[in-house]
Amino acid sequence: MLYGKYRTLFDRLADTIDKNRIFHDPLHTLAYGTDASFYRLIPKIVVRAKDENEISLILKNCSELEITVTFRAAGTSLSGQAISDSVLVIAGSNWKKYSISADGSEIKVQPGITGGRINLMLAPFGKKIGPDPASINAAMIGGIAANNASGMCCGTSQNSYKTINGMRIVFADGSVLNTKDPSSKEIFRKSHKRLLSDIESLAAVAKNNIAVADRIRTKYKMKNTTGYSLNALIDFTDPFEIIEHLMIGSEGTLGFISEINLRTVVEQPFKATSLMLFPDVERACNAVSLLKSTPVSAVELIDRQGIRSVENEKGLPGYLKHLNDNVCALLVETVGGNKVEICRNIEIILNEIKDIPVEREIEFTDIPAEYELLWKIRKGLFPSVGAMRKSGTTVIIEDVAFPVPRLAEATTDLQNLLVKYRYNEAVIFGHALEGNLHFVFTQNFGDKEEIERYAGLMSDVSELVVNKYDGSLKAEHGTGRNMAPFVEMEWGKDAYALMREIKRIFDPLNILNPGVILNSDKEVHLKDLKPLPVANEIIDKCTDCGFCEPSCVSTDLTLTPRQRIAVHREIKSLEKSGKEQHITASLKNDYMYHGDATCATDGLCAQACPVKIDTGQLIKNLRSENVSSSLAIAAWIADHMRFVTSAARYALSFVNFLHMVLGTRLMGKVASSARIISFKRIPAWNSFMPGGAVRINPQNGNLNGATKKVVYFPSCINRSMGTSREYCEEKQLSEVLVQLLHKGGFEVIFPENMNNLCCGMAFSSKGYVDAGRKKSKELEDELFRISKNGEYPVLCDMSPCLYTMKENMASRINMYEPVEFIHDFLVPQLKITKLMESIAVFPVCSIKKMGLEKKLVDLASLCANEVIVADANCCGFAGDRGFTFPELNSHGLRNLRAQFPENVKQGYSNSRTCEIGLSLHSGISYKSIVYLVDMVSSPGLKP
Ligand SMILES: Cc1cc2nc3c(=O)[nH]c(=O)nc-3n(C[C@H](O)[C@H](O)[C@H](O)COP(=O)(O)OP(=O)(O)OC[C@H]3O[C@@H](n4cnc5c(N)ncnc54)[C@H](O)[C@@H]3O)c2cc1C
Repeated sequence: MLYGKYRTLFDRLADTIDKNRIFHDPLHTLAYGTDASFYRLIPKIVVRAKDENEISLILKNCSELEITVTFRAAGTSLSGQAISDSVLVIAGSNWKKYSISADGSEIKVQPGITGGRINLMLAPFGKKIGPDPASINAAMIGGIAANNASGMCCGTSQNSYKTINGMRIVFADGSVLNTKDPSSKEIFRKSHKRLLSDIESLAAVAKNNIAVADRIRTKYKMKNTTGYSLNALIDFTDPFEIIEHLMIGSEGTLGFISEINLRTVVEQPFKATSLMLFPDVERACNAVSLLKSTPVSAVELIDRQGIRSVENEKGLPGYLKHLNDNVCALLVETVGGNKVEICRNIEIILNEIKDIPVEREIEFTDIPAEYELLWKIRKGLFPSVGAMRKSGTTVIIEDVAFPVPRLAEATTDLQNLLVKYRYNEAVIFGHALEGNLHFVFTQNFGDKEEIERYAGLMSDVSELVVNKYDGSLKAEHGTGRNMAPFVEMEWGKDAYALMREIKRIFDPLNILNPGVILNSDKEVHLKDLKPLPVANEIIDKCTDCGFCEPSCVSTDLTLTPRQRIAVHREIKSLEKSGKEQHITASLKNDYMYHGDATCATDGLCAQACPVKIDTGQLIKNLRSENVSSSLAIAAWIADHMRFVTSAARYALSFVNFLHMVLGTRLMGKVASSARIISFKRIPAWNSFMPGGAVRINPQNGNLNGATKKVVYFPSCINRSMGTSREYCEEKQLSEVLVQLLHKGGFEVIFPENMNNLCCGMAFSSKGYVDAGRKKSKELEDELFRISKNGEYPVLCDMSPCLYTMKENMASRINMYEPVEFIHDFLVPQLKITKLMESIAVFPVCSIKKMGLEKKLVDLASLCANEVIVADANCCGFAGDRGFTFPELNSHGLRNLRAQFPENVKQGYSNSRTCEIGLSLHSGISYKSIVYLVDMVSSPGLKP
């Protein structure tokens, strides 16, 4: 319940902003209370703002009511700067507009696009954005700029501060400034005279205080995100330039960035990488100093403990396990416009460090598979510590910078400190060229002693970094709450006073993210620590990094995987404590829809997760706990698949008949009324629903004289569902696939008793684990037998079913997704006449998970002269969920239609149910890619 001024705020906002985007219930406030840091605050109100007007409205009202506001982009921040116990404003999915200059040298973006996505858009120009945090595929540009985030290559010369070229800002009073627009500046000059003159005066103070100005210059030679970007005060004289540069790294405490212009940087097409192994940290750091003057794009230091933590990863060289205890590695990358340049670079690099002893001869590789493997070592460091930690502990990454000439000494000091505080599992790695080291360790915040151990470490680290080395306490992750108590210590009294003045000028009422960057509480970094209760072994390793969120179809509809985990953890913890039972009940009740019913369980979250957590698996397990009342029905269905699929065939044919008689409009009305009357028990109907399939005759697989055989298992979906109305003239999928296999010279064998068989996915995804296992085992035994103990290849015509089969049976049977089988075995046997048309293809989740996206596109490109790949994650149909929760499918494909030019009329995929949703939301008829290949091919070589 909301009371007092928060109630007033809610009522005022709800007058203008869609209530569906304003939350104050326990589930949503808890879910959004979680970011990647180890702090947690539960907001009172969460608003998913849509545009600048809404931000202005929120800020004006919050100013009037003196209510504090925190902005959130992707919530991957690590220092506690994206959380709030007041109002949290999310500016993600609704903020995705952008434009690129004709030559790609500049991009204008709204704050809600991820850095990775921006780089994809810039790739055709051979460009990318400068800032390159390791979190770039999840972090959004609003957060990247507001944290002045950086990574392995960008250093201090290509970060947001250095590449910004204009910004739209919404100030605390709700006013808007566009620093690129002279008329906007003119208006602002009149309306905010005082603010501008205060900024100019402050810049003058900074410039005239020689000691402070020198300190600022020196400190920004190193990476630094501690405190505000004071360099803005001495680098510029124009107040608008000062303002936009102060906004960089301001962590939502000075205003809202509603648009940003960034100059782009060149993305070199050629790369080579070497994992150099030195006898110890000192020799490695000596090499770093020398490498600084050579053409290297990245030099990553990895300490011995770091190498140890990943040495067992698949594909990594075996010699890593047998290195001496003091070895220190440098992962060195060089880039260039062509191979000749790369060779020249390598020569220069090797020559420069030739006198430094190494543990193994230095070798560079320019083979993508090999250098990607080497970078895997580096990228696996954080997850490997995360994955090894005890349940209930959190994983912390700290982020400091030392002067490069003293890096060796500083690294050894840091190692000693970690030993002193018994963080024996800690790993040190970092961007050595910048003297930027991360140290990762696990921490239990469950008891006082442990918190004191952490406090001791932090106090000694700040002493070491600041007083011994005059380094940065936060090099790239932002100050947040975590380093706020140490800002003055790092910068000194005068510079700190400048920072306080900056905050006063921009935000006199202190309503913007208070307590972040500046905080007088010397223990704020030890407060509001996030509980990580043990909840379920599938998700206990989750670090809340949020990398899963962009790949989840229900993000922005209901919950993301990270939020599902956060709420589940809370429910489990409340259940255990027995406290606040009404909150537990409310969370559990709301979780049924937001957590469970709208989870597609497609497993794409695991692909993006650094520790490979499949939140869908958690949901499937939860479903299995709730199905006890219908277990008997599931078991009966499992035992009577033949009957069930024939009933489905008849039902679909009947519905199709009604569709024919009533027409699409009337049928739509009848069906939606029936769904309403049945309280949504009757599945949602749409005009792309297929008719019933024709029963498959196994004899049709025979091919006289064929020397090759393939086993074809038609999925229960394709045994039930035939063609849709818009292609009802064509044969059903099973017949087309047999026809195509025959063209390629394969005799087709069907499993015996196939009408009773099923891969089990339909059962297990709904929580009927036993029935699912039983069906899977039956199918496996039959496929093993009919394929002559795995001798013949096995095909299934539904990609998700094939994926499930591969997961469960791959050790005994050679299974192929049709795309893979056609691409690898049939194409060489076929004569293909390309269609002179544009077509669309949609890689369904299982295609993505099996790594077959490229083969799908290659195959489609052999068949049509233009192939447009839909830009979406999961379509959200999720088996049959598209019939029961069609909003998930509509949400997943909300941007689909806009992606295709008018001339695209046909779409291809490989999952019958997904194709129904794809057709509905694109207006293009989607069917299996098997139809496309069959249409354009004829037998080529003699079998
Ligand atoms: C595993 C992992 C690895 C990481 N690696 C790196 C790394 O290599 N380098 C690095 O620098 N960081 C790294 N980070 C930290 C973090 O990902 C980055 O700082 C990232 O840029 C934050 O972006 P975000 O979209 O998540 O922003 P959020 O966390 O949502 O917000 C960041 C800050 O910006 C403010 N903000 C958000 N939107 C706006 C807006 N529109 N206007 C004004 N203020 C706004 C917020 O209030 C907050 O203070 C890592 C994080 C994780 C979990």
